[in-house]
Amino acid sequence: MRVLDKLDIKSMDKEELADLMRGWDVPAFHATQIFRRLQCGITSFDEMTELSKSLRTKLSETCYIADATVEKKLVSSLDGTVKYLYRMHDGELIESVLMKYHHGYTVCISTQVGCRMGCTFCASGRSGWFRHLTASEMLSQLMTAERDNGIKISNVVMMGMGEPLDNFEQTARFLKLVNDKDGMNIGYRHISLSTSGVVPGIKRLAELNLPITLSVSLHAPNDEIRSRTMPVNKKWPIAELLGACREYQKVTTRRISFEYALIAGVNDSDACAKELAGRLKGLLCHVNLIPANPVAETDFCKPDSAAIHRFEQKLNGLGIHTTVRRTLGADINASCGQLRRKTLQSKEEYHEVVRSDG
Ligand code: SAH
Ligand code: SF4
Repeated sequence: MRVLDKLDIKSMDKEELADLMRGWDVPAFHATQIFRRLQCGITSFDEMTELSKSLRTKLSETCYIADATVEKKLVSSLDGTVKYLYRMHDGELIESVLMKYHHGYTVCISTQVGCRMGCTFCASGRSGWFRHLTASEMLSQLMTAERDNGIKISNVVMMGMGEPLDNFEQTARFLKLVNDKDGMNIGYRHISLSTSGVVPGIKRLAELNLPITLSVSLHAPNDEIRSRTMPVNKKWPIAELLGACREYQKVTTRRISFEYALIAGVNDSDACAKELAGRLKGLLCHVNLIPANPVAETDFCKPDSAAIHRFEQKLNGLGIHTTVRRTLGADINASCGQLRRKTLQSKEEYHEVVRSDG
């Protein structure tokens, strides 16, 4: 992608950088040097003092380095989860969440500004779609979190704003770059990608055959219920979606994770659990139950904890490996798109750490 007619150099892989160098009659070994520095999170060509002044000038005249600057930062007083509102070069705002687990730091990144899938329970879906994010903007979310906290991120979940498979090219590019040994070097097994069920995207992802974890936001056992809240289901109904999941599994041999947000009175009955178990039978999978997070302007609410536990037990009893997801950052709108959507006012339970003047 070009911005202000400059090249998005941080989205380029080593081969592309080597081509660029060749085109400029510059020794190709500079490509790996530049790649390493960019993927370390450098934000200015001036910092590349190992390069000649003329090469640095040429780079800054023709390329830009994408960045995610902290517009606002909220730290949960419950568990230390950090929610970032980042500003992009064009002023768009996106969200990321940094979580600390016993095995290390995980960042939940956004893949689009907004989302065009229109799920009714989701703050991102309700706010509309503005644009795709570039691979470099996905990487920048990780790099800024590392820089800001002096940490190394070990896991990535693509579960923030946006539908990653609706932005397939940049998502695939991001996966390749973030995994590069000369880059952030995050193993594919430490990356999860969540989709609302874009079937052609699942098929293309299967072709890449990466050992990442595929999460599918199912949220309902049948088309009647699913189509009520997820318009994507009208295009690719459950049978087609699960067919693609079975194919994906055959190719990658990876266990698929199904997300199921429990909404009281909508999808939390015993009959729903039974129907769901029937549909997932034979698939190597895991069901993640998420108590639905209330979003402004919607009237749904999560079931009480006894009902959630019952649903979990029922599925486990029917042979479907199921757990309830621990909610982190519940006090800081840590769910997809909520912070951006809310008018960024601070609330009693969390404290605002940074607000830029911009
Ligand atoms: N677009 C992708 C990834 C981003 S959404 C997807 O839909 O999978 C990440 C997860 O948050 C999805 O499982 C989504 O269904 C869930 N989600 C969105 N809004 C929610 C809410 N209000 N309560 C609980 N989960 C929600
Ligand atoms: Fe988009 Fe996912 Fe939200 Fe649906 S749940 S609107 S696909 S971000």
